[in-house]
Amino acid sequence: MYLKELTIAGFKSFAKKGELEFSAPITAIVGPNGSGKSNVAESFRFVLGEQSVKSMRGKRGEDLIWGGSSSVARGNRAGVTIVLDNTKKVFPLDFEEIRIERVVHRDGQNEYILNGSAVRLKDIQELLASANIGSTGHHIISQGEADRILTANPKERREMIEDALGLKIYQYKRQEAERKLNKTVENVAQVESLRREAAPHLKYLEKQVQKIEKSLQLQEQLKSVYGEYLRREDVYIAFHHDRLLAERREPEALLKKAAADLADAKKTLQATESKSDSEPLIAAQEAVQKAVMERQQAEREVSKYEGQIALLERRLAEQERRATSTEGKAVAYKDISALITDIEQQVGKALQKNEVTILQRALSDIVHRLKLFIERSSEAKDTTSEFDKKELGRLKDEMSALTKRVADSIRDEAKARATYEGIEQARVAAATDGREAERAVFRLVGEQRELETKLERIDRELAILERDRNEFKRELQEAVALLGRAAAAYYDFKILDEEGKEVSIEVLAAEDRDAQRTRRHELEKLKIRLEELGIGATDEIIKEYNDAKERDAFLAHEIADLEASIIKLRELIAELDSKLEEQFVVGIKKISAEFNRFFTLMFGGGEAELVTVVTKTRGADEELFEEGEEVEEKKEDGIELIAKLPNKRVKGLEMLSGGERALTSIALIFAMSQVNPPPFIILDETDAALDEANSRRYGDMIEELAKKSQLILITHNRETMSRAGILYGVTMGGDGISKLLSVKLDEAVAVAK
Ligand code: ATP
Repeated sequence: MYLKELTIAGFKSFAKKGELEFSAPITAIVGPNGSGKSNVAESFRFVLGEQSVKSMRGKRGEDLIWGGSSSVARGNRAGVTIVLDNTKKVFPLDFEEIRIERVVHRDGQNEYILNGSAVRLKDIQELLASANIGSTGHHIISQGEADRILTANPKERREMIEDALGLKIYQYKRQEAERKLNKTVENVAQVESLRREAAPHLKYLEKQVQKIEKSLQLQEQLKSVYGEYLRREDVYIAFHHDRLLAERREPEALLKKAAADLADAKKTLQATESKSDSEPLIAAQEAVQKAVMERQQAEREVSKYEGQIALLERRLAEQERRATSTEGKAVAYKDISALITDIEQQVGKALQKNEVTILQRALSDIVHRLKLFIERSSEAKDTTSEFDKKELGRLKDEMSALTKRVADSIRDEAKARATYEGIEQARVAAATDGREAERAVFRLVGEQRELETKLERIDRELAILERDRNEFKRELQEAVALLGRAAAAYYDFKILDEEGKEVSIEVLAAEDRDAQRTRRHELEKLKIRLEELGIGATDEIIKEYNDAKERDAFLAHEIADLEASIIKLRELIAELDSKLEEQFVVGIKKISAEFNRFFTLMFGGGEAELVTVVTKTRGADEELFEEGEEVEEKKEDGIELIAKLPNKRVKGLEMLSGGERALTSIALIFAMSQVNPPPFIILDETDAALDEANSRRYGDMIEELAKKSQLILITHNRETMSRAGILYGVTMGGDGISKLLSVKLDEAVAVAK
């Protein structure tokens, strides 16, 4: 026996705690109408987890709680406890006794307690199903419900039979598997959706990371090109700067010198120009001329005086001599002059006649005259001697003054000439100097121009270098901005030749600038490409990408796991389905046979069986479809009853009388209980419609049934009562409270009335 006790407290009319012990295979509960017997049957339903309040004749949960009467106040909770024996381990729990308690509160809240621990309804249901106590309550037949199995549709009937066959446990498992499957499918969808949602971002991040990798690659490339470019540029600028400065020194010095020389030359030129002035020369020349004239004048004076002195001296000597001789006799000038005039006239005339005779005569005449003159003159006395002496003295005095004057003028002339020559010489020298200076100026200007051109070229080159240097600085700053401090280490960059040897500075500096321009061009291209990649916070992106990838892999793994469990669950469902099908097919056969046995037993003949039917339904929305419309039809297996009474032609269940219906349904209920006996069966006035003869048959059958299941029979039927080992009477006093009491058969019969 499995059923040990039932305790009702606060449930429906059982305001006070009442206990029932089930120590016999058959227990009968008796009592007058309305005393609360059916409430006992319902308390079984309640504690076994019934969810339909309606099946317990209530509307709401609180209808199950003692509602109060004029004398006793209403209760706040209804609690029912059932105690089951588990010494045979029918229930898969390591307890000798299973104590299930259910409590409902006024707020509708339910509690389930299994052996003192709060559990879920599901736990109770599964536990009971394992002992073939199904939730459809096939083992609890409420009042007037006996023919429920007859009125049910094939599908409902199948459920009842499945429940009776103890297939519920598989169905629970199947439902659970189905629920898990749905949940898993849902989870897969959710995870897939999460994965799908994250996919674009992951893809984006992947692209970003690819870009970053590309960018890092470009940066490496850029670093290398920059290293070489900057190193070369630095060497080039420094080298050529030094070279140009060195180159500049000589022409600069030369230019300075040329400028100084030019200044000197110009000064010289200026000086010579002032020396070439002709005025002093002209003045000197005039001075010479004047000195010459002065000397000549003096000399002429001297010669005149010399003549006069000589004349006087000769005359004085003549006078002396004449004084002693004729010689020296003075002749008056006028006499001589007159003589000369006469002779000239006579000669003139003779010459004019151009006749020798005349000329001869003239000449004889002239001789004659001259002789006369001398005769006369020698006779004349000289009176001029004294005067002449005086005159000579005077002349001689003047002559000495004149001599001195001549000497002075000669000296002056010599001096003037010397001055003139000095000036002339200076002019010649100046002219030479001037020409030289002029040539020097010309040469120096040329030289200067040449040097300036040279310096200009150097300066131009220096300016270009300066521009290159500025550009270099700017490029370096940009390199540092792009590549960080590493870019500044360009001076460590080793430039190697084809043989792997470091290239000398001279070779570096001598490189054609086009090569650097090409590198620069390459740099620009790399920078543009880097810029186009436009990477921001690299580390964060990589971290985010790794996280996203990890999460994606996790989700993929999750999906794979879930899909694997979907496959397993489907397998499990298929397995359960086939098990269900198999057991159902076997079970239905057995029930059908038992049904036939009980039926023929009840009716003393006839035949009955269960058949599996397939019905097509259009589902719940059937009425929404128009006639002739193509709809999806569901095929459902159901169970149909076939019952043929002895000596009657009619087969249909609807043709049966009330009693016949009751017997048929009892036959089926009993058949179901026989094949897979539940631990206990509760029958609430199932025997109500039976006549005496049938009551006996009923009594026999329940005794047979009681061999396999404990029976709790609510009854007014004396025959039935007589088969019970234990009898409980239910009474209700004026306070509306049902009370339980153990009674004897006679008392029971009395109470039942
Ligand atoms: P019968 O033999 O006529 O079938 P019964 O003995 O089976 O009667 P029940 O139907 O079990 O009687 O009991 C019905 C009684 O229980 C009624 O008097 C009803 O008022 C009472 N009852 C039902 N629910 C409650 C409740 N929540 N609180 C108080 N009394 C209740």
